[in-house]
Amino acid sequence: MNTPKKSLDITTAKSSRLDQVDFDNLVFGKYYADHMMICDYKDGAWQTPQIMPYGPMEIEPSSKVFHYGQAVFEGMKAFKDDQDKVWLFRPEENFERINISSKRMAIPEFPKDYFFNSLETLLDLDQEWVKKGEGNSLYIRPFAIGTEYGVSASPSNEYKFIIICCPAKAYYSTPVKVLISDHYSRSADGGVGFAKAAGNYGASFYPTNLAKEKGYQQVIWTDASTHEYLEEAGTMNVFFRIGDKLITAPTSDRILDGITRKSIIDLAKHEGIDVEVRKIKVSEIVEAAKNGTLKEIFGTGTAATIAQISGFEQDGTFYDLPEVENAYNVKLKKKLQDIQANKAEDPFNWRY
Ligand code: PMP
Repeated sequence: MNTPKKSLDITTAKSSRLDQVDFDNLVFGKYYADHMMICDYKDGAWQTPQIMPYGPMEIEPSSKVFHYGQAVFEGMKAFKDDQDKVWLFRPEENFERINISSKRMAIPEFPKDYFFNSLETLLDLDQEWVKKGEGNSLYIRPFAIGTEYGVSASPSNEYKFIIICCPAKAYYSTPVKVLISDHYSRSADGGVGFAKAAGNYGASFYPTNLAKEKGYQQVIWTDASTHEYLEEAGTMNVFFRIGDKLITAPTSDRILDGITRKSIIDLAKHEGIDVEVRKIKVSEIVEAAKNGTLKEIFGTGTAATIAQISGFEQDGTFYDLPEVENAYNVKLKKKLQDIQANKAEDPFNWRY
């Protein structure tokens, strides 16, 4: 039966766990803000979102998510400015993307007003968890999972849409070395690479572990059919600076449409940098590294904003990329972080 929905049910935490957090030695993902949002999907509709104290939840062992991986997620951040005002960065993009991911995974799309109402309420309740200062943020993890019990391989008829938050400091702050993959791939044409589907990440751990054994922090993924084209770096989009040009691959079935990626493209153009969005061959980068025109490689993503890549291995050879003066990655990272934390004008209207 479809009863009229209240917009939100709220049960607040009896006490805060904030004092248990060592913000000076923050381990990312270890502590969660006092409240979370859970919204159930059943009888063909999303029910009233519930805000409640963060904690364990009961879920049947036969739930579809455990067997068939019907799970999607998002990653976004809230920042606090010097006036204690909390800002989100382009949250509509995350909202749209989780529904794009959900559609691909046969998960029902989540209503926009439910998303924004509950997110704003959560951030209001847990605003003390958002710390000011450089690199500080509250990482927000919305996700949706298939919760219907029964191990038949078919889409779930019940879901939970959940939002949890954890405090974060800047990470990947030191440059990373990467291995260009010539065997494993993270996605394929017609597949789910463009979606933030949980299984994409589970599948990337083994090849990433192999790269780590060789001394690399991340894998640069290449296209699955030829391994000739550069696509993403770990869980980031990837940019190459050759001469003064900034180049990044176009999004596709296989590449996540990163919000930091599109922001960096706009910001770089705004700064007068020549940006090319086109396919990039591994051989082009190797050639540019050899002839000295390859100046920078960096990854972009919500977690790190920009992560400088200080060298890569391809086909058994390591190519070192020493830091250049007036590096684009340094300049663009600062510009973007200043916009995010309300320390600079926001000509694009990205702050929320
Ligand atoms: N690629 C992949 C595979 C990712 O998981 C992420 C992180 N969401 C990104 C790129 C960067 O996306 P965004 O800038 O929206 O965080």
